[in-house]
Amino acid sequence: RPWVVTMALPRRTLGKTGISVSVLGFGASPLGGIFEDIDEAEGVRAVHRAFAAGINYFDTAPFYGATRSEKVLGQALKDLPRSEIVVSSKVGQYGNPHTFDFSAERVTASVHESLQRLQVPYLDIVLCHDVENVDLTQVAKEAIPALAKLRDAGLVKAVGFSGLPLKMFTKLLDLVEPGMVDMVLSWSHCTLADQSLLTLMPHFQAKGLGVISASPLAMGLLTNRGPPSWHPAPESLKKACAAAAEHAKNRGVDISKLALTYALRAGEVSSTLVGMATSDLVDANVRNARQALGLDPNPNAQLEEEVMKEVEEILKPCQGQTWMSGRPEN
Ligand code: NAD
Repeated sequence: RPWVVTMALPRRTLGKTGISVSVLGFGASPLGGIFEDIDEAEGVRAVHRAFAAGINYFDTAPFYGATRSEKVLGQALKDLPRSEIVVSSKVGQYGNPHTFDFSAERVTASVHESLQRLQVPYLDIVLCHDVENVDLTQVAKEAIPALAKLRDAGLVKAVGFSGLPLKMFTKLLDLVEPGMVDMVLSWSHCTLADQSLLTLMPHFQAKGLGVISASPLAMGLLTNRGPPSWHPAPESLKKACAAAAEHAKNRGVDISKLALTYALRAGEVSSTLVGMATSDLVDANVRNARQALGLDPNPNAQLEEEVMKEVEEILKPCQGQTWMSGRPEN
């Protein structure tokens, strides 16, 4: 069917890749049912709704819901014009049982499997997923060169890696050959509660890398619903975020809106990925993003500015607090 994109969101180029991504991206981990069970048909509608609202960038991984996210996203993407979307997936981390494998052979096979599940002939972006869990030398010397070969063959357009600890990014970038990596994805470090990604931006920019920031809601911490039971944050941070959400609610403001507004205005990342699996959440996030970016008028702007400051004050004692992820040396 013909697709009508009814709204436009600003786009930014991802480093030197020439790939243009909407500043708000669709995070598909919820399509794997990892936050709560999902209605797959509704998930497909959510992807279509996002595309119609100007979101062109869709991120998934074989790990999310042990391939379920990729399959549901694939159901939706097959109806969209391939040249008008940016499809991103990952390699090296798998679910059920939870394993890591960054050997050249496995990551190469993994990309082919993702192409099948996503029902696309090529991936725009492929990332080594949560590399802090493994030997970074193997990622630099095996996984990334294997992905670069797939890039040479035209099966992927851009290669990168993702993870939580910020020191891992500089460590791995020092290990890879120049020109191998196009971009990085950081998560939960460009939020109302943790702004530490911004300190690394000059380093990434100097290397000409594209930067994606994921989890502006800190994987549910900055929502009224709160985080899933498996959320790895320390109790002190969970409590502070819950208190911030409660305060905002009492003032008539949704903490998720403040959190998205903060993320979209901070730093110079190419795109911010928000996880969503329903059309209602897509509508809410697009509406919030458009107001945050000044594309639509915001009748509550003044109140939200005030509450933003109050919430930042509540979160101040925890600012930058993170949690252990992967091998301590990474
Ligand atoms: P997020 O911070 O985007 O939070 C997602 C949660 O917030 C979900 O439970 C969702 O239902 C809920 N939510 C979304 N919009 C909302 C709204 N307006 N109001 C209330 N609740 C709302 O966390 P995320 O999903 O983990 O991150 C976004 C995406 O980034 C992921 O889906 C994934 O694609 C990517 N990501 C990648 C990595 C990695 O590579 N290591 C890590 C984290 C995230």
